[in-house]
Amino acid sequence: AALPAGTPTPPPAPHLFSDPAEIGALRRNLLAWYDRCKRDLPWRTLAATEPDADRRAYAVWVSEIMLQQTQVTTVIDYYSRWMQKWPTLQALAQASLEEVNELWAGLGYYSRGKRLQEAAKKVVSELAGRMPRTAEDLQKLLPGVGRYTAGAIASISYGQATGVVDGNVIRVLCRLRCIGADSSSPAVTDRLWDMANALVDRSRPGDFNQALMELGATVCVPKAPLCGECPVKQHCRARRRKLFGKPTPVPDVEDCGVGGCPLCPPATEPWDSSLGVTNFPRKAAKKQPRVARTATCVLERRGCHGAPEYLIVQRPSSGLLAGLWEFPSLPLDQGLQEEKQREALADHLRAWTGRPVVAGGLRFIGEVVHIFSHIHQTYVVYSLPLGADVTLDPALSPSRWVTEEEFHASAVSTAMKKV
Ligand code: SF4
Repeated sequence: AALPAGTPTPPPAPHLFSDPAEIGALRRNLLAWYDRCKRDLPWRTLAATEPDADRRAYAVWVSEIMLQQTQVTTVIDYYSRWMQKWPTLQALAQASLEEVNELWAGLGYYSRGKRLQEAAKKVVSELAGRMPRTAEDLQKLLPGVGRYTAGAIASISYGQATGVVDGNVIRVLCRLRCIGADSSSPAVTDRLWDMANALVDRSRPGDFNQALMELGATVCVPKAPLCGECPVKQHCRARRRKLFGKPTPVPDVEDCGVGGCPLCPPATEPWDSSLGVTNFPRKAAKKQPRVARTATCVLERRGCHGAPEYLIVQRPSSGLLAGLWEFPSLPLDQGLQEEKQREALADHLRAWTGRPVVAGGLRFIGEVVHIFSHIHQTYVVYSLPLGADVTLDPALSPSRWVTEEEFHASAVSTAMKKV
């Protein structure tokens, strides 16, 4: 029968989970595997043992923010220190941004820590310290909490039967259902959310979501997935296709038998048999990162006990690396000659030291490359030794002299540590 006008066309059956028996089997297989093989992680222990719902949600929230863009093994240590220092929302709400940045130093994407702290303040001051209790409210009321994080907190902390879609889930679902259209496009993203919501186990949603992500992180990995060990291999259409070729004899471009299918690989990039299951997922080419150069100077003086001290200054409170400390630095125009960049840096340093700086006195040390998510940054590093009597104009704060040890304990970025 024809669908009523305005109803979106459902995707072709090969890209869906429509058989309730298959959905039930997939849930059971995945959860049994998770119970056997899951990694012991501190936030999982807290989510399973903490009786207070607000504390539980907070513990999951912190882990989810730290895990965005960062490997599990790196996060564990940061997470433990964070939860020791700020075990509750109330404790975090009272922290200063400086303390947050210090603890976050080295974890990257610093605005995450800042936003987490701002959101904690909001929960304490505007929501009476009570975390919103559904994914919808978490996303609506907490700054920095998007659809994924809201779904993760609600399913893991409160048992709400709501799905999640992150990079790992995208990969697994695209392979399970041979989705080869651009996985970052809104049309495909919507389908993946629908699928995650349909699949999530109704009685153990938090475990199911974590299991799906764990599968993507440890078995259905990007380059060489371990299909032989996969607990859901009998539900995987990409694997079936790899083993048996095309499911039915179909015209070249019509992988699922439906012409112009919005979820199949584009006709210009059909299934490549040398890639096997890693044909999926596919993404539009990434934008090239912006290339930037920055001159930076390590100003050094003898401290009162003879040990060297270095000048660090604070970055503005918004933008890249907001509020972090660095050696005095100056973004350079592209193609600036060495001599000119020295002069520009000397000028810039005069503002910090309150005295003229001779460009020729700057010693070139080398170049340091650091890749931020969207910037390919080169630091051109100079050093300049100063007499012991240098004092700074307090009007030029925030700046301070630190020993090497103090430098490493300060809120400085990984890029500055490299410098
Ligand atoms: Fe991923 Fe292979 Fe499992 Fe399919 S069978 S879900 S491709 S690991």
